[in-house]
Amino acid sequence: MSLIRNILLWSSKNYWISHKLPKYKFVQKSVLRFMPGETLDHALSKCSELEDIGYGTIITYLGENSLTKTQTLNTVKQYKDALGSIDSRSLKSVISVKLTQLGLDIDEELCVDNLKQLLNMADLKNTFVWIDMEEYIYLELTLKIYKKLIQKHNNIGITLQSYLYRSEDDLESLLDIAPYIRLVKGAYAEDSSVSMHNRNEIYDNYIKLANIMLEKNILKNGLIPSFATHDHQIIYSLINKINADKIDKSHYEFSMLYGIRRDLQDEILNSDQNLKILISYGEEWFPWYVRRLAENPKNLILLIK
Ligand SMILES: Cc1cc2nc3c(=O)[nH]c(=O)nc-3n(C[C@H](O)[C@H](O)[C@H](O)COP(=O)(O)OP(=O)(O)OC[C@H]3O[C@@H](n4cnc5c(N)ncnc54)[C@H](O)[C@@H]3O)c2cc1C
Repeated sequence: MSLIRNILLWSSKNYWISHKLPKYKFVQKSVLRFMPGETLDHALSKCSELEDIGYGTIITYLGENSLTKTQTLNTVKQYKDALGSIDSRSLKSVISVKLTQLGLDIDEELCVDNLKQLLNMADLKNTFVWIDMEEYIYLELTLKIYKKLIQKHNNIGITLQSYLYRSEDDLESLLDIAPYIRLVKGAYAEDSSVSMHNRNEIYDNYIKLANIMLEKNILKNGLIPSFATHDHQIIYSLINKINADKIDKSHYEFSMLYGIRRDLQDEILNSDQNLKILISYGEEWFPWYVRRLAENPKNLILLIK
């Protein structure tokens, strides 16, 4: 399984594959399992539907590693349009952004400037910006930018990945300053010197970090953790702790990706938990789609069928 995962993750970065495959109709059709459509309207119509039945929503405009300033400005425009439409449609959606899409590979200052524009507009519209965590090479810079911006903006959250050995230290360094931390397992192919590869180890580390985030003194300090996972064993284990410690649901949330474990999504929502669904849109879906395939290689069989 891990060989298939590695091949898939490699193909998401391969120029030829990532330009050829998305042109095939069967690939275009199969991606619709994970996203309602390519346009903002597709995403927000789905947000509206989901919010009507009690889910929270997060949207993300697909794309990563912008290579030119113009590309980053287009990303900013897309997100500004999204924030405007969230407001005009009276939705409660928040946005989730990738710093490489905002220019991290080009110039740190450009990236920070782009992000600030989104934070300011999100603030005006009374909404929120999550920063995704990308590959390990961007981690230091992402944390540095986050730590700088959190001093002036309170509508920003950061993501940590439980597959990284250093995430416990990063969590400790964030606990005093970060009101919103999202915990994920991690979606990229990383070297074994920095990242765990064993599923049980990643699981155990997720539980360990999540339990730190749910400690009473940490929650009292104002942290609102977001547990972003479809792993039902993790979710049940956390709900047991939450119930045992009588933690109010306003102090944490769960989040999942659109189209993954819909049965579990309904179950969690029906058990009176706060659950946000992350909806992706945009034309640059191929690398993101392949990471979804890599998370569960059974998806590849469905695609081939
Ligand atoms: C809201 C949100 C934000 C995220 N942000 C980031 C980020 O910033 N950086 C980052 O590296 N990663 C991010 N991820 C992805 C994350 O790192 C994992 O790759 C992804 O969530 C799968 O891991 P899991 O915790 O669901 O556990 P897994 O063990 O992978 O999955 C648990 C179960 O869920 C189901 N499942 C999981 N994924 C799939 C799939 N693709 N197709 C079908 N079934 C599936 C399967 O039944 C599987 O057994 C995010 C995920 C979510 C939900």
